[in-house]
Amino acid sequence: MSPAVGARTAGDPYLPGSGNGGYSTESYTLDLRYRMLTNRLDATATIEAVSTQQLTRFSFDFNRLQAGRVLVDGRRAKSVLSPGKLTITPATPIDSGAAFTVVIEYSGSPAPRRSAWGLVGWEELEDGVIVASQPSGAPSWFPCNDHPSDKARYSIRVTTEQAYTVLCNGVLTGHSVSSGRASWQFEQQQPTASYLATVQIGRYTTTPIELGGVPGTLAYPKEIEARVEADCGQLPGMMACFEEAFGPYPFDGYTVVTTPDDLEIPLEAQGMAIFGANHIDGEGGEERLMAHELAHQWFGNSVGLDAWQHIWLNEGFACYAEWLWSEHSGKESADSLARAARTKLKGLPADILVGDPGSADMFDDRIYKRGALTLHAVRLTIGDSAFFSLVKEWTDAHRHSTATTDDFRALAAGYDESLDGVFEAWLFSLPLPTLPTVSSPASSASPAKSLVKAKSRRR
Ligand SMILES: [Zn+2]
Repeated sequence: MSPAVGARTAGDPYLPGSGNGGYSTESYTLDLRYRMLTNRLDATATIEAVSTQQLTRFSFDFNRLQAGRVLVDGRRAKSVLSPGKLTITPATPIDSGAAFTVVIEYSGSPAPRRSAWGLVGWEELEDGVIVASQPSGAPSWFPCNDHPSDKARYSIRVTTEQAYTVLCNGVLTGHSVSSGRASWQFEQQQPTASYLATVQIGRYTTTPIELGGVPGTLAYPKEIEARVEADCGQLPGMMACFEEAFGPYPFDGYTVVTTPDDLEIPLEAQGMAIFGANHIDGEGGEERLMAHELAHQWFGNSVGLDAWQHIWLNEGFACYAEWLWSEHSGKESADSLARAARTKLKGLPADILVGDPGSADMFDDRIYKRGALTLHAVRLTIGDSAFFSLVKEWTDAHRHSTATTDDFRALAAGYDESLDGVFEAWLFSLPLPTLPTVSSPASSASPAKSLVKAKSRRR
């Protein structure tokens, strides 16, 4: 291979087929013309990127769609499709360090992509569309550099039948109707990983919800309005609790979509969470999941992953946020939930290294629970005040960027060097460690009070 050819991988051993080398993306402008009845997509992607080497050839992740005309900096370029990739040869090589723009016309019938973790990507609902891309589904609906370490801005325009409501990441900046079809324009200015870019289409009613200073939107089928209003009634309190614990909410808004279909699991997207009708019972039955998905806006979405190996940083924090919310709302304390989770883990095989679980196990529930327990062990070791300072410093230092487990260990070492032993035992050894005994105020003080205290002592 010529040294000027961009690698066809991001080099992530967990998803070796995903991502590409030789450039990083700055922005995606996606113009999607979609027909619900026939599941037909005609689209144009305009991708701004900067090369990290000279490029005679480079690739995007792109799955099961057909590419038409491709332009690089306005000039016709050659493109070749192979499974999962679109390889582009520009008319003239791109210099190292150069900004360049690729325009790709494409079309097809988008379908979810098979992965080791099930079907991911663009998927038809009974009467709508859901996009759930984690970790490798984004190429099912647009050409991209599909690795979380390469974040970009998104501008997404969707034109479809007028009867449907469209929700994408970011701020709705335009909506127009012409000949029975409606166009919806969204802008996501904050850097976004490709797996967190999303389109949701359905017969949705939308209502605003005030989440402190954060504009919220609820989207749902009218028939389940009462259930949605009841279950989302906790959101303002959750937002306040998490802003106190984790720092300012990182995006321009937060949208909660409830699909008419049942979903196996809810999921996070940038500035958005998507629940199935089965998760919204009107009695707060899945309140913990609502906390979990909201917490991902800080952990996973704003502070993203440098590589999939570090997935516990997303899921451990999101799971710990469930426990924090329980504690904050006067239900079971985080300490009691942590001890129960540990007891449960004791009955399961301890054969996963949470800090490097391997791709097959990266969404195993034991990562979530032991990841959260790691954070609880840190909290018990250094006390509430230092713990919440650490968490806020973490979300601040890596806001809208990406990070690794080592980054977290290094930051934590600044609070207490003995934490390195905690991380070694919980993340990089197999046997299940015991939790430190409660000598700190973690379980005795009122949680609301302890969060306030942490804030006032922030360093
Ligand atoms: Zn999660």
